[in-house]
Amino acid sequence: MHNDPRYAPVEGAWQYVDIPPLTRADARWYARLLLKAFTKKQDCAVRGYRYPLSRTWWYADYTKRGRRCWVSRKPGYSLDRGWGRLVHDCSHVAFRFRHPNWRPHEHGHEELELEMVHYVVSQNWLALKTTANQFIDIAMPG
Ligand SMILES: [Zn+2]
Repeated sequence: MHNDPRYAPVEGAWQYVDIPPLTRADARWYARLLLKAFTKKQDCAVRGYRYPLSRTWWYADYTKRGRRCWVSRKPGYSLDRGWGRLVHDCSHVAFRFRHPNWRPHEHGHEELELEMVHYVVSQNWLALKTTANQFIDIAMPG
């Protein structure tokens, strides 16, 4: 999805904000909040799922461990690391939750990702610092 013009608005949205570095603990925390907001009961595509049990199953891995590529020591936008990567990865989970049979970058995914970027900005998460924001967790395995 690098260089895909459909994703230009997503990159564009990131250009308007200051993106801080991200620790693993913070990344995990915000991934959980972000996924919670975008995998609500009405978004669930699969009938018969026991909600919210089904929901936590969808993103258990992400919220338990987070991903190393979400950690970023440097500020700024990148699709490969930090906030840009976190939102992109989470958008895939939310997209799959909504459209289990669609391809990951099917039309509509870029809109969902953009919506999630706007959500992150509107929640002011980029400006907040938690106590975890000290890079003490950067050596975590995995
Ligand atoms: Zn992708």
